[in-house]
Amino acid sequence: MASPARVDLDGNPIRPITICMIGAGGFIGSHLCEKLMAETPHKVLAVDVYSDKIKHLLEGPASLPWTDRIHFHRLNIKNDSRLEGLIKMSDLTINLAAICTPADYNTRPLDTIYSNFIDALPVVKYCSENNKRLIHFSTCEVYGKTIGSFLPTDHPMRQYDRGLLDADACSVLCHSDSEMETKMLIDFKREAVSQYKDPAYFILKEDASPCIFGPIEKQRWSYACAKQLIERLVYAEGAENGLEFTIVRPFNWIGPRMDFIPGIDGPSEGVPRVLACFSNNLLRHEPLKLVDGGQSQRTFVYIKDAIEAVLLMIENPARANGHIFNVGNPNNEVTVRQLAEMMTEVYSKVSGEPPLEVPTVDVSSKEFYGEGYDDSDKRIPDMTIINRQLGWNPKTSLWDLLESTLTYQHRTYAEAIKQVTSKPLAS
Ligand code: NAD
Ligand code: UDP
Repeated sequence: MASPARVDLDGNPIRPITICMIGAGGFIGSHLCEKLMAETPHKVLAVDVYSDKIKHLLEGPASLPWTDRIHFHRLNIKNDSRLEGLIKMSDLTINLAAICTPADYNTRPLDTIYSNFIDALPVVKYCSENNKRLIHFSTCEVYGKTIGSFLPTDHPMRQYDRGLLDADACSVLCHSDSEMETKMLIDFKREAVSQYKDPAYFILKEDASPCIFGPIEKQRWSYACAKQLIERLVYAEGAENGLEFTIVRPFNWIGPRMDFIPGIDGPSEGVPRVLACFSNNLLRHEPLKLVDGGQSQRTFVYIKDAIEAVLLMIENPARANGHIFNVGNPNNEVTVRQLAEMMTEVYSKVSGEPPLEVPTVDVSSKEFYGEGYDDSDKRIPDMTIINRQLGWNPKTSLWDLLESTLTYQHRTYAEAIKQVTSKPLAS
């Protein structure tokens, strides 16, 4: 029986298209390719310098229903004249290519700025000149720090999450000399997560929130600043030259195939994003490292939920063009410390191994990332625009997404780690 015709959100039939996906071999690209192959008739010209994460789509048996719908083009967009031809052959270009791991922003700021701004310029230009639609991947980091983070610590619009200590108890502790009370104060400070009474101080809205970065010597912001400028360029091409564009601001998408495990499928000294750092620690039975006490807050969204949002953008151009979309899960907010605690518990459940007695260790950002690191304090996406335009909502809780992701990490890496760690050191 023929499957029913696929229709968009307005009930119109969806026409098969060709998509030039740049950065298709990365974390998000691999999930998007999987979704497009399994659930749609669209073709993908997959552009990247690596293909390991989509090998299963490229090298499957010829009987797979998508074998003639995905073609890999190994090229570096920095210096390859084939790029314009691929964009011309496509109806839509999706640009995911970027250096996007915080450990690089302050240590390789030139590469970061080139990758996120200069290398993206020809992509925008070719789309604009050839009247091709563009979905460009930016980041929630363009918001930088929240307005609330600049309130004085004793400001009445600031409050602390932890109801354990009221203001009087806190002032007693603040003036205390006793060792025990000082320790309590340290614990309190560590867990005292800023909550602001007015959402205007912390909810990040695409069309209203300012972009607040630290000083130039805090090179952490080289990434956010480059992303902001390319967003402004894409927007200006839309305003002046009619480019049909959509900008995506991902808020900590996580799941299987994110980044690498150092010493297994990436460099031993490499520092990936937090999911892979903590997975690596858990796999190696090492304490999880909390940068500056793990007080920063993040909202994490499951990659499979987020990919649903991207598919809606691809297939509903009339609703997505001209918009910037936050894509995240405001219900999954935790501090990095809470994330570490939850990952420890979930990993113990999926691996059957008891957690370490001391599961976390504090480390300064200077020690972990080097000079010039800085951090976003809190990232909660406003969902009004994506809800209104595409009716999208995330579904998966943090516990559930960690359970499926850590099951994958354990299945994929535990044996390899065991082998590496059991090898005697070369003398
Ligand atoms: P990723 O590093 O896994 O994927 C990026 C891919 O781009 C890699 O496969 C890389 O090889 C490729 N690439 C980089 N430079 C290239 C070049 N010059 N030529 C060809 N290929 C090149 O990262 P990801 O998590 O999949 O992120 C994709 C996009 O989403 C990035 O633009 C990133 O800034 C943005 N983003 C992601 C998140 C997230 O939560 N994962 C958060 C914020 C922003
Ligand atoms: N972080 C941490 N320990 C690690 C890796 C990261 O405490 O081993 C912190 C980091 O300082 C930041 C948060 O986790 O506050 C998220 O870091 P990630 O690299 O995932 O990227 P970000 O959300 O900052 O873009």
